Amino acid sequence: MATAPLVVVSGPSGVGKSTVVAAALEADPSVWLSVSATTRAPREGEIDGVNYFFVTRDRFEEMVHAGEFLEWAEFAGNRYGTPRGPVQERRSAGIPVILEIELQGARQVRLSDPTARLVFLAPPSWEVLEARLTGRGTESPESVAARLDAARAELAAQGEFDDVVVNTDVRESAQALLDFLHG
Ligand code: 5GP
Repeated sequence: MATAPLVVVSGPSGVGKSTVVAAALEADPSVWLSVSATTRAPREGEIDGVNYFFVTRDRFEEMVHAGEFLEWAEFAGNRYGTPRGPVQERRSAGIPVILEIELQGARQVRLSDPTARLVFLAPPSWEVLEARLTGRGTESPESVAARLDAARAELAAQGEFDDVVVNTDVRESAQALLDFLHG
């Protein structure tokens, strides 16, 4: 069986990646979303093993040294990484895989797997992004500032992606993502 597609969804924090990906998975349950490991503390309502694998910095280091990550990056003071094994297993079984990751990770995937396809989710405007990030109330002021800083660099890099979807409407963006994945 041919290896199923690997699609990377990237874009600034607050753009709505999780919401759009969740809508895409609901519309097409045959696609699998990779669960990352992170050293960040869980937000209210987040479940270990579902939203993320929440790990200590020491455990994350061990995983890095054991080569367990397909890619990993430091973002706004925490580490995030994609466990390699589950992604390979799904793709070998013919199941398309989505990674929802930030820019540095997207670049690593691009280098290690030229068949991966990268889509950038962009906000309708800078003001909308700022309002979403500050208004969601899940982050400390320091974390919001770090995320806005990162957002500037991420928006500047959107030309590196195979497709750019402007997230004005969740359903439309989810459909665009599925079209991209199956296209
Ligand atoms: P958050 O803390 O808001 O859940 O995630 C912060 C950023 O890290 C988001 O842009 C998210 O897409 C990204 N991210 C989540 N998991 C991973 C991962 O495994 N690798 C990388 N490079 N970024 C990730």
